[in-house]
Amino acid sequence: MSKDPVEHANAGQYYRRLLALAFVHWKIFAFSIAGMILVAGTDTALAAFMKPLMDEGFVNRDMETIRRLPLILVGIFVVRVFAIFTSMYCISWVGRKVITKLRQRMFGNLLLLPKDFYDNATSGEIISKFTFDVEQVANASTKAITIIVRDTFTVIGILAWMFYLSVPLTLVLLTTGPLIALLVSLVTKKFRKLSRRIQTSIGDVSRIVEESIKAQIVVKVFGGRSYEESQFEIINEQNRRQNMRMIATQALSTPVIRLIVGIGLAVIIYLVTRDESMNIVTPGTFASYMVSLTFLFGPVKRLADVNVELQRGIAAAESVFRLTDLEIEKDDGSFSTDRINGEIKYNHVGFRYSSANEPALVDINLDIKAGETVAFVGRSGSGKTTLLNLLPRLYDITEGSITLDGHDVRDFRLENLRSHLAFVGQDVVLFNDTVAHNIAYGSMRDADMSQVEEAARQAYADEFIRELRNGYQTVVGERGLMLSGGQRQRIAIARALLANAPVLILDEATSALDTESERFIQASLEELMKNRTTLVIAHRLSTIENADTIVVLDAGKIVETGTHQQLLNSDGHYAALHRMQFENHPE
Ligand code: ADP
Ligand code: MG
Repeated sequence: MSKDPVEHANAGQYYRRLLALAFVHWKIFAFSIAGMILVAGTDTALAAFMKPLMDEGFVNRDMETIRRLPLILVGIFVVRVFAIFTSMYCISWVGRKVITKLRQRMFGNLLLLPKDFYDNATSGEIISKFTFDVEQVANASTKAITIIVRDTFTVIGILAWMFYLSVPLTLVLLTTGPLIALLVSLVTKKFRKLSRRIQTSIGDVSRIVEESIKAQIVVKVFGGRSYEESQFEIINEQNRRQNMRMIATQALSTPVIRLIVGIGLAVIIYLVTRDESMNIVTPGTFASYMVSLTFLFGPVKRLADVNVELQRGIAAAESVFRLTDLEIEKDDGSFSTDRINGEIKYNHVGFRYSSANEPALVDINLDIKAGETVAFVGRSGSGKTTLLNLLPRLYDITEGSITLDGHDVRDFRLENLRSHLAFVGQDVVLFNDTVAHNIAYGSMRDADMSQVEEAARQAYADEFIRELRNGYQTVVGERGLMLSGGQRQRIAIARALLANAPVLILDEATSALDTESERFIQASLEELMKNRTTLVIAHRLSTIENADTIVVLDAGKIVETGTHQQLLNSDGHYAALHRMQFENHPE
């Protein structure tokens, strides 16, 4: 465990939160604890069983007892089966409940996290929290609880039995026991330390081999052979010596531990046989005492190591709670409206990504009337996507303000703000669901089939969808049918059409289309743009010539604004971009 007091406090906090989740099911939890105590009881009973077995069975040959003993033994084991099943089943039941609850909470929070989080996290990292870490929390905690409860009660039960057999002997044991344990742990530690050092020496062997393989030419040309060879010889010899030391410790450690334990036992035997005051009279008492002693071994060892399990659980819990504790998207606006016209203003907008030093956008001013189409062009990295992402508040601006119909976007309820916007992006990821559900996604899930088909027709997607195996009911996406980039994009356009929102955002929405389908879709997009405000980024300038305004961005600043013809005439950035594309792709 770390010695840092802050981390200590956190570990306690995570542990309490986990327990709070588990205690919701306190009844089942209590059953499992009762089961564990019962298991500990049967262990004690088995150790105690030795006494009548020896005394009555072998020494006194009491027939009554001899007949009853096998039944008692079976009885103990029957109770044990029941107790082990109850304790394991119930603790796991609680564990799985906690896992399910944690996962649901994690996922719920994940969906609410800001885009900034997704930009900076890898999906592998997040997914492993959902799979590995959550499982680890449950496994380590249930294991730790089982050890703490069951083994503690076993130790208590067996010690009590030993005290009952002989108070003085058990007192001797309790004083020598820790001494033996200390010796054993010292030997084990020494052994571990040695084997760790040997691992680095094996690493040296492979390092030198690897170096000479990679630097073959250098070794050859500069005559390094004999030097490398002598280097290797030193490492090789060092490796042999260390291995011998490990073998020596290994060969010594087990017998030494046995010797220590043996000496301990010898002391006990000495006391039992020589000293009248030790009060052990019958062979049964002695046998039972020895069995008790061996039964103590396992539980004590597990209890001594339970910290490892606890730490594993706490570390996993920390990783999980870090995710559920992350701050979700800011949503403190209260304004909401059914219908907007789609008038958009950017006033001195500045924005810097939290991970960047330089601002991505500087002093952006735009005044977009309802129903207008505004196109954004500029080199890659000039800030086009960033500018559009600010409108649905995927990021919050760091300077200035953005208004929609005169209301600051931060005053809207987030859900309401986004309900007025439709979006088609560059990379379309389809859900593992039917085509129909991919078009009628989210809040549109209940749309009529006829509306879905109409949207698909307008997006020039209807034709190819009908040719799929099951038409609109074909499952696409991850585990379904794979569609081409252009087909996926047309489905995304159909989705945006179905949303019928007053503001449309197209971020390179036509980039995956081939020239053929782009021509098709161009017409439908223009139809779509007619009665709504459209912000469009297109890498092929031919697709935006009809825009009401073209805004040219460079290094996060607006450098030119005007219609296609105006910008061509003024012969600035846009004209240059246009010339370049026309030369590369004369269409
Ligand atoms: P465009 O869409 O015009 O190609 P972007 O808006 O994607 O440009 O990017 C503008 C600038 O912001 C670039 O310099 C880019 O590297 C940077 N950028 C984009 N996304 C992020 C992000 N999530 N975190 C930090 N910087 C980013
Ligand atoms: Mg972009």
